[in-house]
Amino acid sequence: MNICVIGTGYVGLVTGACLAEFGMNLICVDNDIQKIDLLKQGKVTIYEPGLENLVAKGMREGRLRFSSNIEEGLKTSLVIFIAVGTPPREDGLADLQFVEEVAKAIAHWMDGYKVVVMKSTVPVGTARWLRDLIQRQQMKPIPFDVVSNPEFLREGSAIEDFMRPDRVIIGAESEQAIAIMKDIYSALYLIETPFILTSLETAEMIKYATNAFLATKVTFINEIANLCEKVGADVHHVAKAMGLDGRIGKKFLHPGPGFGGSCFPKDTRALSRIAREKGYVLRVVDSVIEANEYQKERMVKKIEEMVGDVRGKRIGILGLSFKPNTNDIRESCAIAIIQGLLKLGAKVKAFDPAAMEETKTILPEVEYGKDAYDVAKGADALVLVTEWNQFRRLDLSHIKALLKEPIFIDMRNVYDPESMRRLGFRYCGVGR
Ligand code: NAD
Repeated sequence: MNICVIGTGYVGLVTGACLAEFGMNLICVDNDIQKIDLLKQGKVTIYEPGLENLVAKGMREGRLRFSSNIEEGLKTSLVIFIAVGTPPREDGLADLQFVEEVAKAIAHWMDGYKVVVMKSTVPVGTARWLRDLIQRQQMKPIPFDVVSNPEFLREGSAIEDFMRPDRVIIGAESEQAIAIMKDIYSALYLIETPFILTSLETAEMIKYATNAFLATKVTFINEIANLCEKVGADVHHVAKAMGLDGRIGKKFLHPGPGFGGSCFPKDTRALSRIAREKGYVLRVVDSVIEANEYQKERMVKKIEEMVGDVRGKRIGILGLSFKPNTNDIRESCAIAIIQGLLKLGAKVKAFDPAAMEETKTILPEVEYGKDAYDVAKGADALVLVTEWNQFRRLDLSHIKALLKEPIFIDMRNVYDPESMRRLGFRYCGVGR
């Protein structure tokens, strides 16, 4: 089957490479010509474990190619996946300008029946709006179907998530489109992946409800962690015991500096706005958004509590990406924390294994180190913000010797508080 994926970002490129691995013929299109030129040479511009190898394999075996020509992509394909960005607008709603551009191009170049699949996260009602828009823009009536197929991959483990998803959601209204979608994902039938066949609106809602629930879970444990600090309880034991309750589950109960990234912040805000537009207030989601903002501010206060007045002090930051194994810094808590520190007059030196170039463009005033030890050297405190594996086994005696003051603030609870104190650190984690 010939498939076109439009947008070669985190979702589009993974979708293209994985569908090629499933045996489909893929053409991946992006209007970022520089990105496409690099991809044509097999160079992947995002940090995602395993992706470069998978792209190379697809290209070598002749099932994966790249183009900046949308006409070429559309004319040769039966199925069009839309995977362009839907960034937040000022008012919180998802900005659909890129989706609209693509919809107009699809209408313009369509030369026969197509299945148009919405992979991007879009407000409820968008698939139907997309269908009407394409229909209105067509030069002559050509049949097509619209499908909502939201994506749940996590950056850092995107390939595994795409290849072995917990479920596949297909929102569709036509039997033909459903049959084509089932064919595309037939490899997943073998591993007994549950398929949810539903309406367009329900599929769109599933994506937002899932992300809002996960964001709620993270925020809930963050709030419990904050209270643990006040009452002298250990949030790790609390989370572990809670997670053993089958009704709760142990995932997403890790306290930290707040949630960030390209999805949870924007999707919670968008869901809240969607509700308000329909005259309903999602009180839980609104509280989650507010509590998450507070959590990031609280992390800056935590540093102040440990260091005292941070003006003129040098703070070392480990980790800039919003989570390990990605170079994505969109709404990363590390960025918010650094901005908070800079505002208070602190000097910041930071290191991240993959996201330094990205961060330099938005935080040029930060000094960038070559590794964790370089950052620790002469610093008044070291703050671990993103739990990359290489920060889990630091030579702590060496770190302590390099620091000006032996202050270690561990926002991911990577280290054991007692051992750290025994080593002579003034240590604090979150909720312990
Ligand atoms: P991204 O910003 O990494 O990639 C979007 C790509 O679309 C870019 O390469 C951009 O150049 C391209 N693009 C924009 N307009 C275009 C056009 N008119 N024609 C061709 N290409 C165009 O975004 P992403 O992180 O991959 O997210 C894409 C969508 O998937 C969003 O709606 C997001 O919410 C959703 N999503 C993201 C993740 C994630 O972890 N990143 C997970 C699930 C869902």
